[in-house]
Amino acid sequence: MKKLENKPEGFAPPLGDMPATDFRRYGHEIVDWISDYLERSADRPVLAPVSPGDFRLQIPAAPPSKGEAMDEILADIDRLIVPALTHWNHPAFFAYFSISASAPGIFGELLCAAFNVNQMLWRTSPAATELEEVALAWLGQMMGLPAEFAGIIYDTASVSTMHALAAAREQLNLQIREDGMSGRANLPLLRVYASEQAHSSIEKAVITLGLGQRALRKIPTSADYSMNVAALIQAVEEDRREGVLPFCVVATVGTTSTTSIDPVPAIADVCVQHNLWLHVDAAYAGSAAIVPEMRSVLDGCDRADSLVTNPHKWLFTPLDISLLYCRRMDVLRRAFSLVPEYLRTDEADTVRNQMDYGVQLGRRFRALKLWMVVRYFGHEGLAERIREHCRLARLFAGWVEESPNWELLAPVPFSLVCFRACPTVEKESEETRRVRLNKLNEQIMQGVNQTGEAFLSHTSLDGVFTLRLAIGNIRTTEAHTQRTWHVLNEQFKRLSELGLKMTPDANLTHSISAHVELP
Ligand SMILES: *Cc1c(COP(=O)(O)O)cnc(C)c1O
Repeated sequence: MKKLENKPEGFAPPLGDMPATDFRRYGHEIVDWISDYLERSADRPVLAPVSPGDFRLQIPAAPPSKGEAMDEILADIDRLIVPALTHWNHPAFFAYFSISASAPGIFGELLCAAFNVNQMLWRTSPAATELEEVALAWLGQMMGLPAEFAGIIYDTASVSTMHALAAAREQLNLQIREDGMSGRANLPLLRVYASEQAHSSIEKAVITLGLGQRALRKIPTSADYSMNVAALIQAVEEDRREGVLPFCVVATVGTTSTTSIDPVPAIADVCVQHNLWLHVDAAYAGSAAIVPEMRSVLDGCDRADSLVTNPHKWLFTPLDISLLYCRRMDVLRRAFSLVPEYLRTDEADTVRNQMDYGVQLGRRFRALKLWMVVRYFGHEGLAERIREHCRLARLFAGWVEESPNWELLAPVPFSLVCFRACPTVEKESEETRRVRLNKLNEQIMQGVNQTGEAFLSHTSLDGVFTLRLAIGNIRTTEAHTQRTWHVLNEQFKRLSELGLKMTPDANLTHSISAHVELP
């Protein structure tokens, strides 16, 4: 590929920003473009068909010395950027947790960029600061959280959880804010507990906070991949006996691999008994609690000290926005507040200055997009969409269960299906079978993803390669789900036939072909 050169003849706008007439013209053009892009979101391959470095080769290595015309820049969005994107807006994006930039959310982002408010102090952003409190309260009501929870908005669940653990540690009153943790003989090992299925962000939080990875004790899970509370109790008691200081449990509602739900009421009991901070990671599944008949997924969470949920995951709000609810905002403040003279304001005692509640000083006006999404769809409209995603997941799970070629690998409490192809071969050891099926399912996934029609990702459950179909995009319909099931079966058939050619074993040939059925 030939490297493009910057045009030698630049175009030079007058001092100041883009002229208003141009802004208006290109603004309309861009909105039209976005509208077409979203309407045709299914027309492009979901997964960008590019190799590492392909994209970069097409962009000049040096920045332009003179300005370039907006027309040219926009043409390059179409020509260069879009073909090298993985399309998260595609309705057959089923990998990881699929997400949505809904139209009101996109408008919220646009306005946020235009206002360019820095929400560090109430004074620098009265509407933004107070709208954040409103957005937190609204979503809290929709999820059925008690009114005592206040909160703060960060970018991601990883950052929210890191702050929750910092507050949990601050509450121990061990002078860690002042003295740190290194070089101190008077500090025991501090311990955080989370299940083996908990998100890696918990481990990153203990790394970041200087607690170290050994501070995190991973508790085994039961058959449904939820935390085994008996094992938690045993671990806490053992640690206490050995002079370790337990201080926090992270329970997950909707784990990342399987969306399993830890038994929060029982975990809350343990936390009360041992005086531990309970943080709930509901990054994905917290949104489901806005559906009245699913509210019970947050049972016990009213007793948590903190809880995180991400509207950018399953509440149709564009990246990024994560809500940290906390009962003890005073503790969070104590952990982080540091006010230099140039940021002192008269009203500091009567308002929430958000810079006091975390690492960052400057912050974006993230609540705006969430507020617009909630207003546009309404509580019922949002619940209806989440309910539909859960219906589609159950439908898909039903197809998996009915087919002799496939099996479910975990319960389906929300909109994620964990499954695999499982053709049988006679007289095979368990280990040989596991290895064979792992390979087959990995190839099926690659095959599906290469078609560009759908994008699935995987996880590993007890060493078993597990396909994940995560439904969560606002445009996903039954037709996309059905089509993906078909593509999966086509890949299954293709690979089974390939397997036949390569295996002379008659038994194998017979047993695989006997089980291939297309929907
Ligand atoms: C996605 C997810 C996270 C991480 O979210 P980020 O906002 O990307 O940091 C944490 N926990 C769970 C359960 C998740 O599903």
